[in-house]
Amino acid sequence: MKTAQEYENSLRSMSFKVFVQGELVKNPVDHPIIRPSMNSVKMTYALAEDPQYEDLMTVPSSLTGERINRFCHIHQSTEDLINKVKMQRLLGQKTASCFQRCVGMDAINTLESVTFEMDAQLGTDYHQRFRRFLQRMQQEDWTVDGAMTDTKGDRSLSPSEQADPDLYLRVVEKRKDGIVVRGAKAHQTGALNSHWVLVMPTIAMKKEDADYAVSFYCPADAEGILYVYGRQSCDTRKLEGSSIDVGNSQFGGHEALLVFDNVFIPWENVYMCGEYAFSSLLVERFAGYHRQSYGGCKVGVGDVLIGAAALAAEYNGVSRASHIKDKLIEMIHLNETLFSCGIACSAQGAPTESGTYLIDMLLANVCKQNVTRFPYEIARLAEDIAGGLMVTMPSEKDLRHPQIGPYIEKYLRGVSNVPTENRLRILRLIENLTLGTAAVGYRTESMHGAGSPQAQRIMIARQADLEQKKELARCIAGICPASGID
Ligand code: SF4
Ligand code: FE
Repeated sequence: MKTAQEYENSLRSMSFKVFVQGELVKNPVDHPIIRPSMNSVKMTYALAEDPQYEDLMTVPSSLTGERINRFCHIHQSTEDLINKVKMQRLLGQKTASCFQRCVGMDAINTLESVTFEMDAQLGTDYHQRFRRFLQRMQQEDWTVDGAMTDTKGDRSLSPSEQADPDLYLRVVEKRKDGIVVRGAKAHQTGALNSHWVLVMPTIAMKKEDADYAVSFYCPADAEGILYVYGRQSCDTRKLEGSSIDVGNSQFGGHEALLVFDNVFIPWENVYMCGEYAFSSLLVERFAGYHRQSYGGCKVGVGDVLIGAAALAAEYNGVSRASHIKDKLIEMIHLNETLFSCGIACSAQGAPTESGTYLIDMLLANVCKQNVTRFPYEIARLAEDIAGGLMVTMPSEKDLRHPQIGPYIEKYLRGVSNVPTENRLRILRLIENLTLGTAAVGYRTESMHGAGSPQAQRIMIARQADLEQKKELARCIAGICPASGID
């Protein structure tokens, strides 16, 4: 396994072509806006080095038996699925942000089973190719960016019907030695902190869309790949050098627009090319795994937000007020409900044909549907407890100013035994999680990440077996022939 420092060094040797606010960045690792997101992924390596987290963060490889980072693991049991969610909660607690590495973990678990089933039905040889990549990924302890979401253009049209044929990523040329692809993937979590990109189709495809039914992996800095870094609310505060004003100066997440401008992919790296009928299976499984993931990561971040709200209440001298206690209880209740769903869909998992364990799809979709709602309520309650000072207080520069600093120290103090600076730090953390850079990961990503709410409702409708429930009702009501009470 890589150490945290080796991980950082490995990124330095890559040559990403990335634009941040209109400028080409030479050294993404040390860029003040990007670096906190790198620190979050680095934590997935650092915790794996820590003996107290060994069982959660590392696991024997199902391919080689060697101990590997769990982010590179193929789930072999429901216990593995449960440990994945627990690991994600831990990392959410340690970073208070999106730590990005889960997308690749969910992508490899998806492709492991889907390529197996494709080969069994179609006689292709994708599974063995994929396992060769997997073995290297595990040995090298790579971070992999799972790239699914296309830009999609007009949502009422299929990929092949779009006015611009590149709005979904597609194969533009098939050669003897490989394929050439063009298109873009949007909202790519952790793309610049990844060694490889694993591309997958984003929706179910028809025969006419065969060129768009493509899955492959390539180096994240491959020739022809270009990144445009996503803006986040308050991101330029990171350029000001104030740890207080940023709220969480060490950690963060990032998303980028990933453009494939005629990128060559050798056949060895291709796992789907035209098998459109398997596109929906791949999308559903990936979405299911990532919807499970949110029952861990968002809960860990929620733990930090609840802790911050409790501290804000203490610093204000209101921690014994019954309505504050009740609001904190409500936040905990909502957060643990999310965790319960993450654990439940894992505990109810089952093996696929290849032996790789898959979560219970209905419960995973229920998990994510709750995630589209509860973090908003948790954030609302945190803002309620924090008070308006969270968005009206002065900057760190004012606090440090020789003339006005003493006024801030004096007038913005809450309880007398807590330094004003601590109060400002906690309020800025709440601001960061609810309105600032981390709100991308905690709020909007809770809504749209791993699929928007309607996507889960479609899956819930599909998985729920309403006919069986009607049958149950008929039996109880005495209108079921099978009940013998006709
Ligand atoms: Fe991992 Fe959560 Fe970020 Fe997805 S949103 S990559 S599950 S931390
Ligand atoms: Fe996500």
